Parts: sequence; structure tokens; C-alpha cells
Amino acid sequence: MLRGTGRDLKASIIIDDFGGGVGGVEEFLEGKVPITAAVMPFTPKSKEHAEWAHKNGFEVMVHLPMQPKKGKRSWLGPKPITVDLTPEEARKRVEQAIDNVPYAKGLNNHMGSLAVENEKIVREIVKVAKEKRLYIVDSGTSPKSKFPEIAKEFGVPLLKRDVFLDDISSEAHVKKQMARLAVLTEQTGKGIAIGHVGVSGRVCSAGVIHSMDDFKNRNIKIVPVSQLLSKEMYQKYLWPY
Ligand SMILES: [Zn+2]
Repeated sequence: MLRGTGRDLKASIIIDDFGGGVGGVEEFLEGKVPITAAVMPFTPKSKEHAEWAHKNGFEVMVHLPMQPKKGKRSWLGPKPITVDLTPEEARKRVEQAIDNVPYAKGLNNHMGSLAVENEKIVREIVKVAKEKRLYIVDSGTSPKSKFPEIAKEFGVPLLKRDVFLDDISSEAHVKKQMARLAVLTEQTGKGIAIGHVGVSGRVCSAGVIHSMDDFKNRNIKIVPVSQLLSKEMYQKYLWPY
């Protein structure tokens, strides 16, 4: 085939809430789909899940708990990033979160509809991400997120979630969302979906796994998130691994 005649279609599937939820953990981490594992820091399983993922060849991200507009505090787990923190406190928590999740190459937000709109907080996260050479995925919990603007200011690679896979917990719905990811990837060349382990983990893993034939037929490759970054970004942004 001549170069440039075929398009290189790539999609990433980030699975959130490792470290927290149990359902689907083994299905994904012992499975064959090259998902990217977003691991919550500060839980008894954070380190174990990050190491397990890495050992089996999965890319790891920090799933940073951030304050939402609505919802229970308990959904955030320990040491979340809340808007009442000083910049110094926020920075320290982000650094600790990254230390807590070995092998992380990027970070995304868990919840955070309130905190992602807060410039002071987002600035600290982006600064630490730059120092630690992490990319950022905006999970897309608020349309007024400050991540795009501030990541651009600091030259930190930022991608945005296109599709949620399991906002309705059924395998049929996950498959429908996977089909949306495929169409979007065909239109734009790349796409990012987010699913979860935990309550919906088993249906999410089943839906993802049972969509792989469709992706193969459409010639769409599932890749770790870092492979969605432009070559230039990738080269400029060297990871210590
Ligand atoms: Zn989450």
C-alpha cells in the first residue's frame, strides 16, 4: 500500500476506577484488549492494581479524584482535590497521588465538575503534570473545564474523552457506545472512550471485548492513550521509563 493512502485509525479505551472497584478488574487486567488503566490513588489496592496492569503490559494513568458539584464526599475516596485547598496543598496532593500510582504516564479526573472549573486548582495539576512528564485526559465532566486553556499555556499534552461507555449499565449499551467510538474514530482519525471497573465493570468488560471483532473489521486499532499523542508531542515529552 502507498503511504498516505490508508488512514491510521486509532482509538483508546480508558478504564477508570482501578484501585477502587472490584467488578471487571480481572477481566480487563488479564484480558487481551489493550485498555489504559486509570488507577485511583490512596486506596488499599492502588499500588497493586497499577503494578498488575503494568506487569501485563497495560498503560497506567492516575485517576485523580476531584470535587464534583453534586454527589457524596465518599464517592471521592481519600485525599481528593477540593476547591478549598490552597495551591500548595493541591500541589502536594497531586504529587502524592502520582507517587501512589506507580508507572503512570498520564492523569485524568475522577468526577470533578466543580474543581475542573477552578483555575487555581487546575493550574497546580497542570504544573505538576508537566514536571512529572504526564499527559492529561480531560474526562469531560464539565463543559467549562479549565484544562484545555491551562494545558495549552504550559505545553502539556491534553486529550479529551469522546464517549462514556457505561453510563447505562448493560452490555448492549456498552456495545452501542463502542460503535459510536468507532464511527467517531473513522470521522476524525482518533477517539477516546472511558469505561469503569466496579459496579458496572463486568458488563463494561463484556461489551468492550465483544466489540473487538467490529473494530478489527473496521481497521481501527486500540492503542494506549500515549500513542494518540502527536509524534512531536511524544518526542518533546519524554517519560522517565
Ligand atoms: Zn472515576
